[in-house]
Formats: sequence, C-alpha cells, structure tokens
Amino acid sequence: MSFASLGLIDPLLRNLQELNYQTPTPVQAKAIPAVLSGKDVMAEAQTGTGKTAGFALPLLQRLVQHGPAVSSNRARVLVVVPTRELAEQVLQSFVAYGKGLDLRFLAAYGGVSLNPQMMKLRKGVDVLVATPGRLLDLNRQNAVQFDQVQTLVLDEADRMLDLGFSRELNAVFAALPAQRQTLLFSATFTDDIRAMASSILRGPVNISVSPPNTTASKVKQWVVTVDKKNKPDLFMHLVAENHWQHALVFVKTRNGVDYLAAILDEAGYAVDTIHGDKPQPARLRALNRFKTGEVQMLVATDVAARGLDIDDLPLVINVDLPIVAQDYVHRIGRTGRAGASGVAVSLVCADEAPQLAAIEALIRQTLPREEVSGFEAEHRVPQTNATGQVIKKPKKPKKPKVPQATPGGVPAPSKQPRRQSRESKRKPAVQRTANASQTASVSNGNPFGAKKPRSQPSSKPATGSRKPAGKPAGGHSRRRP
Ligand code: AMP
Repeated sequence: MSFASLGLIDPLLRNLQELNYQTPTPVQAKAIPAVLSGKDVMAEAQTGTGKTAGFALPLLQRLVQHGPAVSSNRARVLVVVPTRELAEQVLQSFVAYGKGLDLRFLAAYGGVSLNPQMMKLRKGVDVLVATPGRLLDLNRQNAVQFDQVQTLVLDEADRMLDLGFSRELNAVFAALPAQRQTLLFSATFTDDIRAMASSILRGPVNISVSPPNTTASKVKQWVVTVDKKNKPDLFMHLVAENHWQHALVFVKTRNGVDYLAAILDEAGYAVDTIHGDKPQPARLRALNRFKTGEVQMLVATDVAARGLDIDDLPLVINVDLPIVAQDYVHRIGRTGRAGASGVAVSLVCADEAPQLAAIEALIRQTLPREEVSGFEAEHRVPQTNATGQVIKKPKKPKKPKVPQATPGGVPAPSKQPRRQSRESKRKPAVQRTANASQTASVSNGNPFGAKKPRSQPSSKPATGSRKPAGKPAGGHSRRRP
C-alpha cells in the first residue's frame, strides 16, 4: 500500500518522500482515509506506531482543501496533548509534514511566558497544539476563541486523565462548537477513556493497531534484581560491561537524576538531564543534543517519559520502575520503533515488587529476571507474575530464642559476627577520576540509599566508558558518604 493510494495530495506525498516514509504504518492506513472523510476516530495506538502522521497528514489536507481562512485569535484544528514535550513533538510533525503549505502552526504550553503565545495567536493559527491548562488560560484571556475549530484531536488521552486533566478537558469540550470532528488517540482504553469517548465522539471509526497494553514485541526486556542502595553501582557496571554508549535512563526522583548524571559524567560519558525543574528550553536542548549524539546518556524523570520523539533508540534503562504501570509501556515505546529492535532493562529492588507485578499484569508477560554477580539482592525481590500478584513466600515459624549460657554464666552474643559485606568485597565496575567540581554533587549522598564506604579503591578499568579529554586517569574511587 502507498500513501498515494490513501488519497493524499501531491505536496504531502512529496514531503513524505523527503522524509523517506515509504509505506503507511497500520494506524496510518486506517486513520488517514477516515479522517479525510471527516469522520470521528477512536484509535488505540501507542507511541511509535506512527499515530501522529495518522492524524496530521489528513488534517493538513483538509485544512488546505476546506476553507475558510482562519481569523485572528482563532484556530481551525486543536490538538490537545498531556505534556510540553509532546506538544513540541506534534508541532514539529505538523511542520515537517506540512512543509510548503501556506498554513500557520503553534504549540502552547505552560511553564513559559504567556505573552509570546498570545502574540502569535493574534493572526490566528491553522493548527494549535496545546496542553489543557494553557489552552484554557489562553481561551479565558480571549487570546484564542474556539468558534472556528473544525477538528479536535486528543492525543495520549489516557495520559491526560492520569495527569488529572479531566476537569480541564471537560471545560474545553464545553467551549467547543458542537459541530466538529473529534479524534481520540490513546495508548490504552480504560473505562474512563471509554466513558469520555462515548460522550464526545459521534459514530467513530474504531482503530486498534496492537493488542492492548503490549510493549513493542521487538524489544528485549528483562529485569535485574538488586538492593536499592546498589542501583547506581549496578547501573554503571551494566553500562560498562555491555559497552552501552547511547541510552535513555529513567530515574524516579530529581535527586536520583542528578546523582546518576554526576557519576556518568565522572566516568567520562557525555550526559544531560531532563526533569520537571528544568526550564523548557533547557529540556529541548538536552533532547536535541541526545538526538544528534552529542549526548550519550540522557537521564530523565517521568516528565520526559512521554512525547520524546527519538527514533531507533536501542536502549532504555529503568534505574527505577515507574509508579504508574502504563508509563512502563510508554518508556519502552521509545525503543524498537519503526521496525528497529531494542533493549529495555529495569533494575528492580524489593520495594518495587508491587510495581513490577502491575507492569507484568499490564503487558501480560512475566519479565525474565537476572542477578549480576557481586550485586545479588540481600533483600529478596518477591516473585511476581502476569496475574499482577506478588507471590509471598510463607514465613518460616520463628524458633524461640533461648539464651545460651557460657561456662562463666554470661549469655553468649546471640549473633555471629557479620560476614564481610558484599559491598566491601565487590570491585566497582567503573574506574572514576577524581575531580573536585564533578564529585561535589556525587558526594552529597546516594539518593538510592545510604552505603558504607568502600574498603578498596577501584582497580578495574571501565570497559565501555570513554575518558574525557583533559581528565587525569587515576585509581581513586569516588568519595562516598
Ligand atoms: P509516532 O508514533 O507518531 O510517535 O511516530 C513514531 C516514529 O515513526 C516517528 O519518529 C515518525 O517519524 C516515524 N514514522 C511515522 N510514520 C512512518 C512511516 N510511515 N514510515 C517510516 N517512519 C514513520
């Protein structure tokens, strides 16, 4: 099947040729004709399926073919998205697919000043991509009125509900013209999404392109069990041993992001971060540097989990599991795109067993587990399976404590002297250089848990790391709290 056979016009076909899109993906094959004919659509499609082009291409065509021209402070197509990253990504898709068409596009989201967005809306825009809160702000200030909206797209609708945007969405629905086309895209179809769909869609074309809640099948996924406090060292060990050179790394907290970024930097990797406290331009810069390969390791919190448009990413490392199981699917959605094969490894500690169980239930598979020698978990991670249950081992009945009498009548110590901890026996996997400015943030503490100082300095050189120019090579181990 070709894009031409779906009824797309020449300027769009030329742009697709330039982008080297040869054949439509399954969601595109189904969505493009439906959207072109003006129908409502309800599509179950996750990131990586090509869903953006599935709605952007036919909507661009409708904008070109159907007037009237947009008036000031109006928009003709409204795309509502959960995050600023996704807003930027969708905007870039419209710009790329719509190159050469005389149309105006804008992305509007919170966290940046309102004024430039208001200025750009003065002339009106054909496509406005916006997050729900900012869209309502702009509407309340009369910067954008909705009377010319002909199509509403809800992209990643499940994520918007997860993020608590349902009230804002209802306010948007109420303010839009009743006569309009509505397209709803969601990675998963929960009861809440179905309820929303039934209230806003009219006779929709239903599209489902992958079995619900499955991760891309070409992605090799596995779990490494480990104690929480040892996660940073295991992470560095895996990176070095496997010669991983370009990866998206997810961590639960901002402190965790900074900590891992510092130790990666110290080991000589080019690294950048994305988290909620970072201003939007800095986030976009980090993403672009990662895409161009200038940055090898991009360490991110959940805020970046959705909407990052990174093709053919070979590797996602979950140093922490996401709290919401669906975010796992979205994280893994970044690998194995458009036919590429990928790897997704998750470091899981005992506390995370319920999250692991929820993820396995969602993706309907039990993830294979591994232990890495020297990093075996002292706190056992309970077994889980695809039913979503954490399988607890029955506790052994405790033996009653009987104080042992010594010949002198003094009770013997109840415990044996502690064996040498695994911590002190293990050699760190990555040799690190001493550099006061870089170790500063590292020495502030391991946010993954307190650790005893190492007994020996590092002796094993990094296998996969590249030494930064100008940094002295040395055998110093990183200072630890
Ligand atoms: P999406 O699911 O919309 O986030 O798209 C996933 C990725 O696939 C994007 O980077 C697109 O550029 C790419 N893509 C979308 N459609 C096609 C296609 N028909 N052929 C090749 N790549 C595509």
